[in-house]
Amino acid sequence: MTTTFSAYRIDRRDGAQQLELTRLTEADLMEGNVTVAVEYSTLNYKDGLALTGRSPIVRRFPLIPGIDFAGRVVESGDPRFRPGDRVVLNGYGVGEKHSGGYAGRARVPGDWLVALPEGLTSRQAMAIGTAGYTAMLAVLALESHGLEPGAGEVLVTGAAGGVGSIAVALLGRLGHRVTAVTGRPHEADYLRGLGATEILDRAEFTQPPRPLESERWAAAIDVAGGLTLANVLSRMRRASAVAACGLADAMELPTTVAPFILRGVTLYGIDSVMAPHALRERAWSRLARDLDLDRLETMTREVDFAQLPQAAEEILAGRVRGRTVVRIP
Ligand code: NDP
Repeated sequence: MTTTFSAYRIDRRDGAQQLELTRLTEADLMEGNVTVAVEYSTLNYKDGLALTGRSPIVRRFPLIPGIDFAGRVVESGDPRFRPGDRVVLNGYGVGEKHSGGYAGRARVPGDWLVALPEGLTSRQAMAIGTAGYTAMLAVLALESHGLEPGAGEVLVTGAAGGVGSIAVALLGRLGHRVTAVTGRPHEADYLRGLGATEILDRAEFTQPPRPLESERWAAAIDVAGGLTLANVLSRMRRASAVAACGLADAMELPTTVAPFILRGVTLYGIDSVMAPHALRERAWSRLARDLDLDRLETMTREVDFAQLPQAAEEILAGRVRGRTVVRIP
């Protein structure tokens, strides 16, 4: 008997992108040697862009969107995975050029899957999602630079968003003093609850900075780019590091070389999509160990599968706090 499942599908008609909620079969999935029964997916900023068509994220049609998912293997031609194994997927162009997580089934190459660490449910894995896994990659980059608790204040921009909320929670749990930058000052209590010790208004980061401002931060995780990142760089301490992972402010980076050549600041780029497998496994096992799951729950809301298009508009409008998970029916 053919299995059918609910799925979102994006197609292009007359040059315009169209989204439908439909029922599909495994014959509608793309190439791969592992089939997964998807239990949970999530809503990342990039999913918002894909679902609304606001940016050309989707590059193959028709395609099931959803850049990440967690679930159980139902069929595997990969010796590393057996039916029943719990897995998580982030990146590799899933939800962009390979069908993704907004469906009851997903089929992908086994090389793209990470075994879910013990101690995390599929829902928790997706509450973390690509946003949280990216935050962990940023923390790992800063640690590889030598960052240790007690080194000084660590800055996180876009703190009330998905990457930002998990970055604040992780750094706080690891014993760092965390300064959270937000454009939503009414979320100050929420951010303190996650582990921030100080809250700064995003408005302080919107004017072109001098090449070097007073030194302040020992490390930073930036999700914004643009003038936000330029301001962060000009206020970094000597020999400190910044992990840049997003463009919520702008793609441009209007800075000078002064922070790099006069203060020895290092700028790390974080690419979660094509991160090597060993680094992914390390990030997921650190997340299972270092993220406070009660704090994770306080930053997570669940939306109905049918409400994803509406939630996509909300994340693009900057109205979503923390993380959004969706149970796949
Ligand atoms: P969210 O929408 O959840 O969070 C983004 C946050 O950025 C907002 O909540 C807001 O935080 C802040 N923000 C919004 N607009 C501006 C602005 N104009 N200037 C400064 N800050 C702003 O998105 P995600 O957390 O899912 O993703 C954050 C960024 O990271 C995105 O650009 C995304 O594309 C990127 N990303 C990159 C990855 C990679 O592999 N490099 C992987 C995952 C995400 P607040 O309200 O607190 O101010």
